Amino acid sequence: MSTVTDTSVLAARFQETFGAVHDGVWQAPGRVNLIGEHTDYNEGFVLPFAIDKTAKVALRVRDDSTVRMLSTFGGHGLVEADLAELEPGSGNGWSRYPLGVAWALKERGIEVPGFDLLLDSDVPSGAGLSSSHAIECAVISALNELTGAGLAAQDLVLATQRAENVYVGAPTGIMDQSASLRGAKGQAVFLDCRDQHVDLVPFDAESSGLVLLVIDTKVSHSHADGGYASRRASCELGAEILGVKALRDVGVERLEEASGLLDETTMKRVRHVVTENDRVLQTVEVLGSQGPASIGPLLDASHVSMRDDFEISCPELDLAVDTSRANGAIGARMTGGGFGGSAIALTPVGQEQQVRDAVVRSFGEAGYATPDIFTVTPAAGARRLT
Ligand code: ADP
Ligand code: MG
Repeated sequence: MSTVTDTSVLAARFQETFGAVHDGVWQAPGRVNLIGEHTDYNEGFVLPFAIDKTAKVALRVRDDSTVRMLSTFGGHGLVEADLAELEPGSGNGWSRYPLGVAWALKERGIEVPGFDLLLDSDVPSGAGLSSSHAIECAVISALNELTGAGLAAQDLVLATQRAENVYVGAPTGIMDQSASLRGAKGQAVFLDCRDQHVDLVPFDAESSGLVLLVIDTKVSHSHADGGYASRRASCELGAEILGVKALRDVGVERLEEASGLLDETTMKRVRHVVTENDRVLQTVEVLGSQGPASIGPLLDASHVSMRDDFEISCPELDLAVDTSRANGAIGARMTGGGFGGSAIALTPVGQEQQVRDAVVRSFGEAGYATPDIFTVTPAAGARRLT
């Protein structure tokens, strides 16, 4: 089966597959993080936005506890499960995301009936755009409505976090689902990860004559998991020595004092988090006062900090960033957890083709795989389509 985008085609596929009419179609976007990397688990600030690439689910509730699921993504067959037998870790592949969401709702005491589900997503998988949360957010939006649970967005955010952390077993924060569930067209989502407060911040690159390019390096480094765990541990150690609950509570003015208290590696990790939090606040400020064309230096500084202090970049990401900057991008940085995935490059419309060509050429010359390059715009958060 190939990917479809039209909801009527999806409805017809649903009918063909399950021999019944769906109850509705829900959609949730992937996300790009504009700035604020590895600040989430330090109870700091992030500034992601929902993108114009989405997971759609056509769904019908059943009168038993059976779940049947199919994705239009190639190479997956029909998956069946029984909600009565759900346990963290059960299921495999993509079915863990819808099942994890059902499990998290049940854990909250919500009666979740079995369902038939057809998934159709154009969020690139594994590129750091959170295709997994797009699936979870589409499914939880559907189940929240069809069960009559009526949970508020904040609760849906926490339920999808439980699904990822406990059911799927991925140690993720609340950024991705907050962007997917709470994003809006033309807006970035300024999220305080301590209290979940969200402010929408206008981010209309297009009317400033800019495009935001995503460069998917297609690199997925095997040490990403260990790298993440050790960075978290360094941050916790830094907070403990500095006597704060989380690094969110350390301002840039304390960095000099910190350098006398911390070992060299911990100091570098702390400096990244503290300055990155500050850059998120500055980006929000600059977007409000001057607009997207003025945030370039903050994106650049964020990349340097991740490359040199947090040490989570890789040669492919650095090449994507440096080549973009050398060919007209006004700011560029790696985005996501690091050790691979994607970079973003804020680029004047007139320079877009030059940046694309130069990045592809430089990757070829370096002997790297050809990257995928595409534009994203801030789009609506999760919603019902039909
Ligand atoms: P990311 O969320 O950054 O894209 P993850 O590893 O968290 O990366 O999630 C990718 C997983 O999501 C895939 O391995 C697959 O299980 C699932 N997935 C993404 N898109 C689809 C799709 N269209 N159909 C089925 N599964 C998908
Ligand atoms: Mg994911």
